[in-house]
Amino acid sequence: MLTDSYKLKGQRTQLVNELKKMGITSQNVLRAVEAVPRHFFFPKDFIDKAYENIAFPIDNGQTISQPYTVALQTQLLEIKPGDRVLEIGTGSGYQAAILKVLGAEVFTIETVGILYNKANELFSRLGLNIHTNYGDGSLGLPSHAPFDKIILTAAAPKLLDNLTQQLKINGKLVAPIGNLDVQKMLLVTRIGDNEYQQSNHGNFSFVPLTGINGWSV
Ligand code: SAM
Repeated sequence: MLTDSYKLKGQRTQLVNELKKMGITSQNVLRAVEAVPRHFFFPKDFIDKAYENIAFPIDNGQTISQPYTVALQTQLLEIKPGDRVLEIGTGSGYQAAILKVLGAEVFTIETVGILYNKANELFSRLGLNIHTNYGDGSLGLPSHAPFDKIILTAAAPKLLDNLTQQLKINGKLVAPIGNLDVQKMLLVTRIGDNEYQQSNHGNFSFVPLTGINGWSV
């Protein structure tokens, strides 16, 4: 359903209030969550769940991330208009739309064909100019590097050098890193050619990153 309603807008405002209570402080991120109708990216039979603060199954055993997780990862990246941002794991397309609304030039890559096709079609219908790519995001997107920001929305087994090397100096990467059950949300800033700063932002549970540098599942 690509129409909005007062009821759904009201639910979105409630979700934003919940995110504030959970510690999301970036006004830009909160405005983006308020602006992007999450139900456009949701399985159409479950629109009534679109503004619950939960991850939800989409096609092919994948998920649309929990709104809190989307908001936190986006906040950590401190997106500025014009930033070149690579998202690994397009999924429903919701996270990419949030990045786009924040003014980023968004490159997103998805390895599941049906999800890539659906997101591609949805972005066109919504008039969102997002660069979609089909392939193995564990390799990054070297043909379009370097990026100001990189976001992984699937769990990686370790911090991948080939991805941090696709960052500009002062660029930031946010990624869930750990085992298949639980991962730490790491924020990595590239401060020199081979120098990085790292901080940990809590435990999360994502679907696995597959591909050459991911998990074989
Ligand atoms: N960002 C998505 C959203 O807003 O709906 C949620 C992403 S979902 C949690 C993780 C996605 O990563 C899945 O769609 C999965 O197919 C994708 N994925 C897993 N491994 C990948 C890889 N190597 N390259 C690209 N995408 C991958």
